[in-house]
Amino acid sequence: MYAAEALLKQDTPVQVDIFDRLPTPYGLVRYGVAPDHLKIKSVTAVFQKIFGDERVRFLGNVEFGKDISAADLGHHYDAVIYTVGASSDRRLGIAGEDLEGSLSATEFVAWYNGHPDAAAREMVLHATGAAVVGAGNVALDVSRILAKTAQELHESDIAPHALNALEQSHVTDIYLLSRRGPVQAKFTTKELREFGELHAADVVVNPEEIALSDDEYAAITDNIVRKNVDVLREFAARPLQGKPRRVHLRFLVSPVELIDNGHGQVGGLKIERNRLDKAGHAVGTGEYEVLPVQMVLRSVGYKGVALPGVPFDEQRGVIPNDKGRVTGQVGGYTAGWIKRGPSGVVGTNKADAVETVACLMADLSKLTPAPQHTCEAIDALLRERGVEVVTLDDWNALEAHELEQGKAQGRPRHKVSHRGEMLEVIRSKRK
Ligand code: NAP
Repeated sequence: MYAAEALLKQDTPVQVDIFDRLPTPYGLVRYGVAPDHLKIKSVTAVFQKIFGDERVRFLGNVEFGKDISAADLGHHYDAVIYTVGASSDRRLGIAGEDLEGSLSATEFVAWYNGHPDAAAREMVLHATGAAVVGAGNVALDVSRILAKTAQELHESDIAPHALNALEQSHVTDIYLLSRRGPVQAKFTTKELREFGELHAADVVVNPEEIALSDDEYAAITDNIVRKNVDVLREFAARPLQGKPRRVHLRFLVSPVELIDNGHGQVGGLKIERNRLDKAGHAVGTGEYEVLPVQMVLRSVGYKGVALPGVPFDEQRGVIPNDKGRVTGQVGGYTAGWIKRGPSGVVGTNKADAVETVACLMADLSKLTPAPQHTCEAIDALLRERGVEVVTLDDWNALEAHELEQGKAQGRPRHKVSHRGEMLEVIRSKRK
């Protein structure tokens, strides 16, 4: 969306078609941002304005690599910007990672946000203990969602199936595991503070695990890190209020093995205490502990997935590029997580997209004009292939339906999560 916005700002006449394999736009804003972070999601107002420009179209429900190829796009567009994000996850590479009850935060987030690929998944929340591995904002998101009450979640736009399942959740203890210390944690302070305000969960921090000498504290130069440490110290000093749930923020511990309960399910998580070496890397101490958990969510970063016919750097999980110019593909550009890797907040992508579009504009005279660049030509091709394209009007109708249904339930939105149901709603609203 930010790439489209940057294109619209150019003096050159431009027509932008935005494709998505889902019938819905906005990627992680709809399917990644936590359902209780409605304010972050209000960035969609900016996106709606972009869609309001008549030079922009939405072509949803069109899958790259299946319905349309890189060659097709080259035939119909002067330039293509790949902004597909990072849809897969990184693994821990330890024993027991494939036991039932072990999954990636990516899958869990997709499930509770009603991503069509994950909506049908049966998520049995029989666990009383859950471990979340990682010290980023995603780890905070999933821990917080697990810790929230049905009432707190009702006020979010969490998908209805997830709300029902989480209402039945037996989780009492959530362990967020950082392999390094509080200074190295990746999360931001605003997100950390939210743990001090949960209705039904106490936050538990062991002062020893966040201990810093005066010199170490004084050496912190990053404002966010200092504020994080201050908040964690405040949490550690708090007396427990006897709430029914607890979120344990653990530091200097690494998971080493997921323990089988004898039925192919997670029955515990063996962790090792760490110390930091001079370079700030975690080093095992040989001291172990077993956490009583039946669910383990690894939240150790997202990973990009290759697109057919587009160069890909397997090692880094990104499309190889120079400031957004795809290496070895004239007319190919990229922006967002698939360009730079899975880092930064929503707004980070704005500057990132501006950089890419600047390269595209600088290259204009060198680009091969598309042989068939009219909207009608691409529409005809998709029609010929039997693709049911979801237009902007269709999406607006689906969105209005979700908001209306949500309002009736006193919720911000009633998310439609199944692709078939989305298309049914859309068809019913078409004139
Ligand atoms: P992230 O910020 O990169 O955090 C990944 C965490 O996983 C790090 O703490 C890392 O520790 C840890 N880790 C990696 N490998 C590990 C291993 N083998 N064992 C134990 N820990 C391991 O990634 P993220 O949380 O997925 O977030 C992605 C981006 O989205 C971030 O930029 C984040 O800020 C953003 N985001 C923002 C919000 C928000 O603003 N509210 C919400 C969600 C996401 P090391 O540092 O030791 O490698």
